[in-house]
Amino acid sequence: MRLTIIGCSGSFPGPESPASCYLIEAEGFRLLLDLGSGALGVLQRHTGLHDVDAVCLSHLHADHCLDLCAYWVARSFHPDGAMPALPVYGPAGTAERIVRACSAQPGTPEAGAPFNFETLTPGTRRIGPFAVTVDHVNHPVETFGFRIEHRGRVLAYSADTGPSDALVTLARQADLLLCEASFLEAPGLPGGLHLTGRQAGEHAARAGAGHLVLTHLVPWNAKQRSFDEASAAFGGKISLAASGQVFDLAPAGPLPL
Ligand SMILES: [Zn+2]
Repeated sequence: MRLTIIGCSGSFPGPESPASCYLIEAEGFRLLLDLGSGALGVLQRHTGLHDVDAVCLSHLHADHCLDLCAYWVARSFHPDGAMPALPVYGPAGTAERIVRACSAQPGTPEAGAPFNFETLTPGTRRIGPFAVTVDHVNHPVETFGFRIEHRGRVLAYSADTGPSDALVTLARQADLLLCEASFLEAPGLPGGLHLTGRQAGEHAARAGAGHLVLTHLVPWNAKQRSFDEASAAFGGKISLAASGQVFDLAPAGPLPL
């Protein structure tokens, strides 16, 4: 399983990265986790417009889903003809949210979208070669964290969340935990919104994760502070996400013949 960081900028695009988008690949299948502002451009450095097989949206905040509008155009008007409808998994209301955001004309029907919308609910489903487990995390709108398993390897994704026991469960013994660290430690931070680097480190430690990758880093924060906060709470390997970074999680056992 290969993870490519397409966008890791928190809450809005930064000068070095689009907003949230992660490309997960295995066995030739390409799954996008989130498609935030600016991500479709950088995505094309890593895969063709035709070559995405499914999209999962963690939640419906703009910085996690609105480049589906750009993708709507690219999938509908390609010179080779319209591309087949793409499965898009998201929280309840995803179809309405995306259709409304993408349509200048009120009343555009969902049926006109180049996407097949499917509503996520907590539990495990198979998407391509992946076993994908989702559960609600702690954010002001319905938001799903992810546990993605393939051939004995586990990648967990926090999405946007405040402190969350569900995230610890999703990330249990994960090889890699992609965890948001939007906030820097400060007095009076709002609860139920985002994590600090220290809290990301605490979640990784409680989960027994192998490698913590800090993401959703807000451009006006010093990344090194997020890293230092996480290091104080987690003794394992820590990385700061960057657009274009690739992480390979090799299969845990021999590949079947
Ligand atoms: Zn959010």
